[in-house]
Amino acid sequence: MQNNLFNFVVSRTNHLFFKSLLKCYEKDARLVNFAVSRMINRQKMINLVLFGPPGSGKGTQAAFLIEKFGLIHISTGDLFRFEMSNDTLLGQEAKAYMSKGSLVPDSVTIGMLRNKVEKHTGAQGFIFDGFPRTIPQAEALDALLSSKNTEVTGLISLDVADEEIVKRILKRGETSGRPDDSNESTVRKRIDVYNNETAPVFGYYAEQDKSMRINGLGAIDEIAQRLSDAVQQLKEKV
Ligand code: ADP
Repeated sequence: MQNNLFNFVVSRTNHLFFKSLLKCYEKDARLVNFAVSRMINRQKMINLVLFGPPGSGKGTQAAFLIEKFGLIHISTGDLFRFEMSNDTLLGQEAKAYMSKGSLVPDSVTIGMLRNKVEKHTGAQGFIFDGFPRTIPQAEALDALLSSKNTEVTGLISLDVADEEIVKRILKRGETSGRPDDSNESTVRKRIDVYNNETAPVFGYYAEQDKSMRINGLGAIDEIAQRLSDAVQQLKEKV
């Protein structure tokens, strides 16, 4: 009976984890139970990639999503700024790149992200904000989540045109105290980096049928509603 159940679960997924478990342990009911419970747990987590150009409103909208869906928010930009404010070695390294509007190298960013995820065992899911920003970061995120028997549920991109972004960021720079928000050429450099290095991550998850776009223009609560609808759609797919 349990083996039938396990075979059924395996037939519904092509995940190698279950296939190899089936091969090795199909006669052991305890392991079957273990595998099924991992399968069920796998379905429970929601891991969102909140995507879009700098200044598209990811941080603002993440605050609303955390509350509504009970997820852990991880913003790599905030993590770097925290390290910078404490003048750590990591912060000093990141500062050199951030102040120019360039990306911090993948090796540094991926390690930092991994440490943060590891600190939240038992989380119901994560909102990744500002990560992944390159294809190698996306591959590293997939590998990390897979090692935790879960995966990216979906990527939601907040679409905002370049000129609107420049306006928004320079306005934010008047109060944010962020040097990378105050200088127009740095802002334009960040947009170029987004278009060249980060935008392909949308296609990477589109190939897995996980990418969605929403209009990032409008009132904050209108956008929150669009996002909430998108997350509900993703939850139904899980
Ligand atoms: P914004 O979305 O407005 O650009 P962030 O706080 O997300 O703001 O990022 C600020 C800066 O931090 C980036 O321009 C980049 O230098 C660095 N950074 C943040 N996340 C990453 C990442 N995933 N990979 C590399 N660099 C990053």
